[in-house]
Amino acid sequence: MKISVIGSGYVGLITAVCFADAGHSVSCIDIDSEKIRKINAGIPPIYEEGLAELLEKNTGRIKATSDYAAIKDSEITFICVGTPSNADGSINIDYVLESSKQAGLQVKEASSYGIIVVKSTVVPKTTEEKIIPVLEKISGRKAGKDFGVCMNPEFLKQGSAIRDFMNQERIVIGEHDRKSGDALESLYKSFNSPVLRTDLRTAEMIKYASNGFLAAKISFINEVGNICKRLGINAYKVAEGMGYDPRIGKHFLEAGIGYGGSCFPKDTKALSHLAKSIGYDPKILDAVIGTNEEQHKKMIEIIKRKSGSLKGRRVAVLGATFKKGTDDLRDSRSIPLIRDLLDEGAEVSVFDPIGGAAIKNILGSIRIAESLEDAVNSNEIISVATNWDEFKKLEDMKEQLRGKVVVEGRRLLDAEKMKSVCDFEGVCW
Ligand code: NAD
Repeated sequence: MKISVIGSGYVGLITAVCFADAGHSVSCIDIDSEKIRKINAGIPPIYEEGLAELLEKNTGRIKATSDYAAIKDSEITFICVGTPSNADGSINIDYVLESSKQAGLQVKEASSYGIIVVKSTVVPKTTEEKIIPVLEKISGRKAGKDFGVCMNPEFLKQGSAIRDFMNQERIVIGEHDRKSGDALESLYKSFNSPVLRTDLRTAEMIKYASNGFLAAKISFINEVGNICKRLGINAYKVAEGMGYDPRIGKHFLEAGIGYGGSCFPKDTKALSHLAKSIGYDPKILDAVIGTNEEQHKKMIEIIKRKSGSLKGRRVAVLGATFKKGTDDLRDSRSIPLIRDLLDEGAEVSVFDPIGGAAIKNILGSIRIAESLEDAVNSNEIISVATNWDEFKKLEDMKEQLRGKVVVEGRRLLDAEKMKSVCDFEGVCW
């Protein structure tokens, strides 16, 4: 099949390489000329495990371009552009509308029936009330008669995105009409995943409800962790005991400094905003968001309890990205953590295996450590903010850590080993 993918970011590029690997011919359309250059040279513009190999393997089937013309010959076109937060929490759909306009211009010229699939995360009714009207107006053609439309939310996780895309727990196909849904389902056939067919707005809502629920699970276990901390109980043992119950499940019960990334913060805020705009007060969602925004401060509280004033104190923050396995800094909890440390007067060094240089662009007044050893040796207080496997090496850095304060915000280290050499504590344990 001929496929076009508008937007070559974390979702678009993974979608493109995975469909190319399944034997399809894929055009990656982006407005970023550097991304286009890199993709055509076989270099991934983002970091994701296995992406370089898969891109190289499929270079013959992937072509990146800034020209939308490929859409008119494509059987299926995915819209995978960003939907960032506005200041009030609603989503900004400007990129989606511009992509729809460009797609509409191609639909106008198309000689065969193509399908436009919205993969970007958009709030319920966006496809029906915003995207389809643009496509129809610009093309002068009718959805369901001259071209098809689907809404196909994406559930991949950065850090395991290719594995997730290739082995999807479910494929949700929101369809404008049966013909569009049938065509999209046939594209996904080779992935052998369960398929759920819905209307457009249900598909949109499934994405928000899923991310809202996962964020709620994290804020809930963080709250349990905060209570456990005051009672001298290990929240991780509690989570283990809870996880045996299949109604609860063992995943996403890792207490820490909160969730970050480009999805959970944005999507919870967008759903809350949408609910309020239709006259509903989303109490649980707002509590989830509020708990998360406070959680990184627990790290500062512990550091101050152990070390007193942070004025002029040298603090290393280990980890800049929002989790291991990605170069993505969007809404990383390290950012407010570092900001608060700087506000307290600390001198902050950051070490991250991938995202160090990029965080310097956001928070200028920090030092980027050259290595884990450099971060540990040149600082008196160490805070672990991301769960990169490399940080496990701290357990063996006995001499360098002796007498220092180490506070962990992601459960990674063996507490007994750490406590034998330094003043060690976890945020919720
Ligand atoms: P991203 O910012 O990494 O990528 C977006 C890309 O779109 C960029 O390369 C940008 O240059 C390009 N773009 C913007 N306007 C364009 C236009 N008019 N034409 C062509 N290209 C254009 O975003 P992302 O993380 O891939 O997220 C995309 C969407 O998928 C968002 O709605 C997001 O919420 C959703 N989503 C993301 C993830 C994730 O893990 N990142 C997971 C599921 C869903």
